[in-house]
Parts: sequence; structure tokens; C-alpha cells
Amino acid sequence: MKEICMACLFCQIAEGTQSADIVYTDEHVIGFRDTNPQAPQHVLFIPRRHVSTINDFNKQDADLIGSLILAAQHYAKEQGFSEQGYRLVMNCNRMAGQTIYHVHLHLLAGRTMHWPPG
Ligand code: 5GP
Ligand code: ZN
Repeated sequence: MKEICMACLFCQIAEGTQSADIVYTDEHVIGFRDTNPQAPQHVLFIPRRHVSTINDFNKQDADLIGSLILAAQHYAKEQGFSEQGYRLVMNCNRMAGQTIYHVHLHLLAGRTMHWPPG
């Protein structure tokens, strides 16, 4: 059964009822620009299906988790910055800084990244 949560901003973007600058779509994943970019390229890749946090993934979601990374890789190659480099980040819960409770993979690129992250 299709799981959506209409109180969730990212579900609304996935459903098309909330606008976003969408740069990637496939059957299970969409990618759109972050409205508060932390790098020249900052795109969020989300599963179309609502999953609140990384903690809510289970074994059956292995393909979906892989699809998020492959979507980001596809975008990086298509945009021509895959060899220069990019960072993928997923924040889980409060102490990691998660603010939107629909899992999302951040893709950051276009500037030198530092380590450790803040
Ligand atoms: P988190 O802190 O949960 O890992 O990341 C949430 C991200 O969503 C933040 O980088 C924030 O800028 C972004 N964001 C918040 N509201 C919106 C919105 O309405 N549209 C888009 N495209 N991004 C948003
Ligand atoms: Zn959602």
C-alpha cells in the first residue's frame, strides 16, 4: 500500500502539492534543491514513500536505500562534478540536526568540504 503522510512537507513535494525545484525523478526517488543551500550544489534525495528517520528503515528497504545513493551518483555524473567530489549526508534525529522527519540524503558539492563536520 502506498504510504504517504499529508502533514509531511516532503510527502507534499513528492505528491506535487508543494512546489520544489525538482532536478531528479525516478520510480521511487525524487531529488530537489534545498531552499537553504549550504554549498553551490545542495540537493535533497528522498524516497517517495514516507519514512521518518534512518531508524525506521528495515531490511526490505535495502533497495530503496541503495536507490537514494544511486540517484545522487547519477546526478553528480550528469552535472559533471562526480570526479571533483561531493558529499552525501543523512542526519538522523535531533542531535544530528534532523529537522524534517522524512528521510533525505543531502548531496553537497561545488566547494571544498571540511572534516570533521560541525
Ligand atoms: P535536515 O536538517 O533535516 O537534515 O535537512 C532538512 C533540509 O531541508 C534543510 O537543509 C532545509 O534547508 C531543507 N528545507 C526545509 N524546508 C524546505 C522546503 O520547504 N523546501 C526545500 N526544498 N527544502 C527545505
Ligand atoms: Zn513524508
